[in-house]
Amino acid sequence: MNDKKTAPVIGRFAPTPSARLHLGNLMCALVAWLSARKQGGKILLRVEDLDIARCPFMGENTRYMLDDLAWLGLTFDGEVLYQSQRSDIYEAYFKRLGEKGLIYPCYCSRAELHAATAPHLSDHTPIYDRRCLLRAARGELPPTGRTPAYRVQVPDTELGFVDCIAGEYRENLLRDCSDFVVRRADGVFAYQLAVVVDDALSGVTEVVRGNDLIFSTPRQIYLQQTLGFSTPTYCHIPLLVDANGRRLSKREGDGCMEVVREKYKDPAPVLGALAAALGLLPAPESVSLLDLVALFDLAKIPRDTVKLPEGF
Ligand code: GLU
Repeated sequence: MNDKKTAPVIGRFAPTPSARLHLGNLMCALVAWLSARKQGGKILLRVEDLDIARCPFMGENTRYMLDDLAWLGLTFDGEVLYQSQRSDIYEAYFKRLGEKGLIYPCYCSRAELHAATAPHLSDHTPIYDRRCLLRAARGELPPTGRTPAYRVQVPDTELGFVDCIAGEYRENLLRDCSDFVVRRADGVFAYQLAVVVDDALSGVTEVVRGNDLIFSTPRQIYLQQTLGFSTPTYCHIPLLVDANGRRLSKREGDGCMEVVREKYKDPAPVLGALAAALGLLPAPESVSLLDLVALFDLAKIPRDTVKLPEGF
């Protein structure tokens, strides 16, 4: 574990450029940035463009993303990392898991997995029933003509952590999650492995991200422990909703940075609206990032949902 009292804070923002950023992503970037800056630490930017079919290297969404972050005034330390350029690194850690005897091929198709009656994880992936592992243990041959994905075996143990915002979160790795894919059948390394390797090699000590990823965290801590990495501090931020508590509708362009930048030519009122939603200001007003560093307090962030101000 890091000595969190003395180690300098290293935060990161790690967006997937599969679409243009929206205010919810920007809110996570802002909190990660403010938290690191407030503690005198560094903040890194990593582009999670693992899946080049969905996110071409330096494609339009990535270019917009860099521009939207710069527009808001969010500057990052060091070089920007692009996951699409780091397959060799992930391969080395994938091999390490293999050497520990934890990796096995899985030939199940998506349709087979989804047809299983097993309960599903919150991200809709079925909890795997280990049929490929069990079949191999029985000495049966795998189906021919299929390229496998690779799963990592998890133990039947409880794994928990204390989130800075959400509090304690625990699960039984086998029962509540089961063996998960670390390399897809198309050869692309899975998010869970890449994120753990990158956070560790970049020396990240604090992960701030959306609450939709809290369910991934035990898997990531398990990989950290297995690969001998430290576990960072986690802060999962609740969902950003409109003033009525409704999800921002992507279809209507709510919160899309294109629309936001068209409406507000200047970042100050946008920062002010996010700051008010995050409980850092009593009411929205134009502010600078510097003002927000002074006002930043993780304890003020709402625990259920982060509500945008009326009329924003
Ligand atoms: N790339 C992920 C996303 O955009 C976030 C990963 C993370 O912060 O761990 O949802």
